[in-house]
Amino acid sequence: MADARARGLGRAVIFLGPPGAGKGTQAKQIAKHYGVPHLSTGDMFRELVARDTPLGKRAKPIMDRGDLVPDDIVLEMVAERVSRPDTARGFVLDGFPRTLPQAEKLDEILQARSWGQPLVVHFVVDPGQLVRRLTGRRICSVGGEIYNIYDQPPKVEGRCDNDGGPLIHRADDREEVIVERLAAYQEQTRPLVDYYRSQGVLVDVDGMQPPTTVTAKVLEILERGQETHSSPPESSAAANQVSQRYER
Ligand code: AMP
Repeated sequence: MADARARGLGRAVIFLGPPGAGKGTQAKQIAKHYGVPHLSTGDMFRELVARDTPLGKRAKPIMDRGDLVPDDIVLEMVAERVSRPDTARGFVLDGFPRTLPQAEKLDEILQARSWGQPLVVHFVVDPGQLVRRLTGRRICSVGGEIYNIYDQPPKVEGRCDNDGGPLIHRADDREEVIVERLAAYQEQTRPLVDYYRSQGVLVDVDGMQPPTTVTAKVLEILERGQETHSSPPESSAAANQVSQRYER
């Protein structure tokens, strides 16, 4: 691990997948392992909303509905964040890009830094499991630790095991908003799977496994480093089920 922290990631790593696929949980672990920033656009927006900034005021109603924030806002925020010195040894992107224009802009940013292509880890999870994960998700308001009241409950109800902080239930983790978020994923973000797969930089990971198993798998992929594989376009029952259930 010390070795990994010394090396960093040396590239941009994108965690791609629907809401509830485990991107945030995994991004935290992986970023810590390599000592690089975990850049979650969702977290950035939630912070702006909490601080009641002008941008936060614009984003809040959109997030509450489960829609995507317009690209220009997201791109300005991300371009500023990745220009900071702490990203020099690589970074993990969680929740970005979510549209084709965002992916294209990211390509430009990486090219301008003379970085190679990003490595994309695609988390594949059954749709039924996504709803269960999102409705059951509770997040520590102090340290950001993620729990699930069904599958991974805290020792004391409503309190974080690590720091005793109160656990919160995200407003957009209610079922009616979840349906919108999954539809937004299907329509606007899912095409990125094909975009990156056709470039040969995408690796599928079975996100149905226990979190520690998924982390081990992702580490293995990242340690293989530049070696990426492009598997056939996803035609699994799970993917088809997602489209059937959440297309508007
Ligand atoms: P997340 O925490 O990644 O599920 O994001 C929460 C919400 O923030 C999303 O439902 C969107 O409204 C907004 N958001 C986060 N990242 C993006 C992005 N890359 N593009 C557009 N909207 C985003």
